[in-house]
Amino acid sequence: MTLLDIEGLNVSYASRAGPIRAVISADLKIEAGQTLGLVGESGCGKSTLGKAILRILPDTATVTGSIRFAGLDLVTAEEPALRKIRGRNASLIFQDPMTRLDPLMTVRHHFLELIRAHEPDADEDDAMKRTRRVLTAVRIPPDRLDQFPHEFSGGMRQRIMIALALVFNPTLLVADEPTTSLDVIVEAQILQLLDSIKNEFEMGVLLITHNLGLIAEYAEEMAVMYAGHIAERGPVRDVFKEPLHPYTKGLLDSVIDLETRELHSIPGQPPDLLQPPSGCPFHPRCPSAMPVCTGAFPPTTRPRRDRTVACYLYPG
Ligand code: SF4
Repeated sequence: MTLLDIEGLNVSYASRAGPIRAVISADLKIEAGQTLGLVGESGCGKSTLGKAILRILPDTATVTGSIRFAGLDLVTAEEPALRKIRGRNASLIFQDPMTRLDPLMTVRHHFLELIRAHEPDADEDDAMKRTRRVLTAVRIPPDRLDQFPHEFSGGMRQRIMIALALVFNPTLLVADEPTTSLDVIVEAQILQLLDSIKNEFEMGVLLITHNLGLIAEYAEEMAVMYAGHIAERGPVRDVFKEPLHPYTKGLLDSVIDLETRELHSIPGQPPDLLQPPSGCPFHPRCPSAMPVCTGAFPPTTRPRRDRTVACYLYPG
């Protein structure tokens, strides 16, 4: 069952120097119970896309296209309808839990404030029953409800953030670099937890990350973004086995050679979104670039079952 259906999504930011096109004609789908990994270098538009789903972009952003979720088009929905969706049907886990939790509020007050923001008449006993349930799900002992954020480790704080995101049983979770500030062991624990919670709560998850290893481990489908475009989409196993887009190949090759200790990376830098290159924005860095690549942006084609790619190497 399709939970989230994004078609032709465009997001641009107004700036003094002109519009910055952060997301361009993006198409994505997330099925219920599925994790879609969204990967790309910093500044490729993946966080903007995640925020566009929840419509929490700054006022300078203009959004067009459609985002169908919970019977609504989130692009055209009015704020009161969006408020009902946010936190309840769809939730977001941010990058850095320390800056999101109020150091002056106990865990209990964080939950109470959130629940009452959606249900002003919520009874405290009932709110705490729900809080204990989600804290248990993320393996935080509920008897720590009256402690402050600084009394928890970084991993525990992130688990509290996840519990806050789960309190209304959302069907969709957007996790934007949820483990960036954590060490690798805690990162693995958090992602294993997210994976088991996804199954327990039957959610769809959009996992936004620059880390392909996390996508390989925790996502079923993946989309690769470059300069605001979805360059390639497909099942994780197939994309890793046979990457089609030269950018995806470059990302997968960007690893340390254990014998020579050499770090392979894609030459050059991602483009300035204020003045992106003409045609395919990857052409200045692409080892397979052809004269046609500098003309118009390549059409998205389906060269394999369940796979799409935007590249002139696959004319459709
Ligand atoms: S369209 Fe051309 S420049 Fe872009 S990725 Fe394909 S081959 Fe490379």
